[in-house]
Amino acid sequence: MELLTIGAFARAARLSPKALRLYDELGLLRPAAVDPASGYRLYSTEQLDHARLVAWMRRLGMPLARIRTVCSLPPAAAATEVAAFWEQVETETSARRELAAFLVDHLSRKDTAMTGTPTTWTLRYASRTDRGLVRAVNQDVVHASDRLLAVADGFGAAPASTVAMGAFTAPITAGTVLDALQEAARRADESVRDLAIDGVGTTLTAMAWSGSQLALVHIGDSRAYLLRDGELFRLTDDHTVVQALIDDGTLTPVEAESHPQRSILIRALHGGDPAVPDLRTHEVQAGDRYLLCSDGLHTVLPGDVLRRTIGAHADPQRAVDELIRLVHEAGAPDNVACVVADLVPA
Ligand code: MN
Repeated sequence: MELLTIGAFARAARLSPKALRLYDELGLLRPAAVDPASGYRLYSTEQLDHARLVAWMRRLGMPLARIRTVCSLPPAAAATEVAAFWEQVETETSARRELAAFLVDHLSRKDTAMTGTPTTWTLRYASRTDRGLVRAVNQDVVHASDRLLAVADGFGAAPASTVAMGAFTAPITAGTVLDALQEAARRADESVRDLAIDGVGTTLTAMAWSGSQLALVHIGDSRAYLLRDGELFRLTDDHTVVQALIDDGTLTPVEAESHPQRSILIRALHGGDPAVPDLRTHEVQAGDRYLLCSDGLHTVLPGDVLRRTIGAHADPQRAVDELIRLVHEAGAPDNVACVVADLVPA
């Protein structure tokens, strides 16, 4: 049996002497002999195959403990073990691939949001509420400020919308803008419950601007729309019986427009069980214009009229006034509340 010094064996096996010493310490590859005088490790040429096998498995990224297992097995079982290891690597890689794709997407969006919405942006807005031509009182309420836009459409024998809006717009110290909205909505819900009068309630649709993020809270059938690149997008779902019927395919949207129960709400701040509003953040873009309105506007003016009207007037006040004028022209059967707001550089 020919014995090689560690240096010569390392060259033949294409491993470093350092690696061989490590493999010895880990019990992966023991030298064939150790010179009793010098302590030098000596390797047999017959160990070359074993050494190469260890080197290949290291190159595969196999952990040392697992290499030790493979080395202890007969060839067929060792092959099965390597195959099992590789299958595990591929499974893990595919999970990591998905995670990486998610992170790339997540971080790219963040970048877009940051470059697209400098924190010096602010809301430019106008708002108005109107009794209309038929109702005796106005139970629609509107709020607009630098940080908060909201509409509420009350029903019943008490001013639930005014009470709820008061509670909703009281200052809040909360973590994120979404947390703040959720807390404000919870308080508004409580304020309606405190009225303790049967059959009263209100819708609530609001947007909060944190300076860098826009968040939405919504319950009932008031609506939030976005006008972007000349197109009108609805950002909220109506919490109505007819919307539920549309969603399950019982009604078409056109049939719903004339449905006698189209204003019956399935969710609102109504003093019953704690309300569950929809909550979400919304990604803003330069040039976005937002419209919040009660059903007194969106059931009277068709979507294309809304789109054309708010697209035609750069000044939010003119857009709001024109919307109310058009509602009056159409008979104004209900109270109206609306807010038009642009995100503009401060
Ligand atoms: Mn209404």
